[in-house]
Amino acid sequence: MKVHEYQAKEILARYGAPVPRGSVARSPAEARKVAEDLGGKVVVKAQVHAGGRGKGGGVKLAGSAEEAERVAGEIIGMQLVTHQTGPAGQKVKSVLVEEQMPIERELYLSVLIDGAAQRPVVMASAEGGMEIEEVAANNPEAIHRVHVDPAVGMEPFQARQLAFALGLKGDTMKPAVSLMLSLYEAFIAKDASLAEINPLVVTSDGRVLALDAKMNFDDNALYRHPEIEGLRDKDEEDPLEVEAGELGIQNYVKLDGNIGCVVNGAGLAMATMDAIKLAGGEPANFLDIGTVNDVNRVVNAFKIIRKDPGVQAILINIFGGMARVDVIAQGVVEAHAQMDVRVPVVVRLEGTNLAEGEKILKDSGLPVRRAADLGEAAKLAVEAAAGR
Ligand code: GDP
Ligand code: MN
Repeated sequence: MKVHEYQAKEILARYGAPVPRGSVARSPAEARKVAEDLGGKVVVKAQVHAGGRGKGGGVKLAGSAEEAERVAGEIIGMQLVTHQTGPAGQKVKSVLVEEQMPIERELYLSVLIDGAAQRPVVMASAEGGMEIEEVAANNPEAIHRVHVDPAVGMEPFQARQLAFALGLKGDTMKPAVSLMLSLYEAFIAKDASLAEINPLVVTSDGRVLALDAKMNFDDNALYRHPEIEGLRDKDEEDPLEVEAGELGIQNYVKLDGNIGCVVNGAGLAMATMDAIKLAGGEPANFLDIGTVNDVNRVVNAFKIIRKDPGVQAILINIFGGMARVDVIAQGVVEAHAQMDVRVPVVVRLEGTNLAEGEKILKDSGLPVRRAADLGEAAKLAVEAAAGR
């Protein structure tokens, strides 16, 4: 789950990380009020769950409260397009109004999970304000990393090591180390999957602050953090993903291809997408229906996939272990009874109660295409999506 910049900053501030003074505003008049309280010279920042706002025109400086009101009027309501929003952009509902900072240096700092190392990694770079992906591609040696033993936590010497690598010395060393430790602490305490400050700035008067902040949270740990779940802004999420969650399908991720996938098990769902790609196609989604013997779950999966206008074929790939193939087959039949499925359906079934499942499909007379294995299923789905 993602949150807005102002929410991430509130969390980080509670863990002792310095952030600029400021407040969220939902109207130009509110922005003016906040700017007045801050002395007039402010920065007005669009609050959307996407980075690259600066380049897209979503971050603007204002020299007075009147100007802040005017600029907020331009930003609130705009359809902000950045490299992370897709071409349609994201509608801006609120802005963060903050005191302007006299920036001397822009740095990069983040904490995330390094899956290969099986522990958190703290990354820092002197190339702040730029996309970290760009730095990683063009100038990888500019990124410094320290891995943290989760049982011990981040140690001050590790933070000092990173601060040295960033060229921070003298009076900026101590606040930088303290901010890094705060960031790590917040990351762990809130079960974050990412905590990123880009840019981390050194001001001309020697302060070190988080000028931007981004936090993503592990969905599987949200039950431990109702205060984080309360920050959720569904308007920022893909509407189909929200609806899938409400229909009990937690593991649906919308993609750009044209082959809708219904699979049981996350690993098999990944393999299914790979197989589709290998056969020359593009998956329209990742979808793991989970291990439940519930006809409705299959029907709901069809409901979601059917709403994606890009879908031209549906591939059902089931390996029944705990899940029963006959229940899935009933689900496929029930889905066709409840809705106009519109696109060709390819089915690959294997595992528990296979014979019963096959009989249900056969007796239904539905024009589903049967595949003997995953490779064939992917090939048939690609052909079906292409109208062959
Ligand atoms: P992003 O583009 O979505 O990552 O938004 P950021 O919050 O990182 O802002 C983009 C850029 O705006 C920063 O890299 C800064 O260069 C600039 N910026 C943001 N706040 C201030 C500020 O208070 N003063 C100045 N001078 N520039 C700012
Ligand atoms: Mn940024």
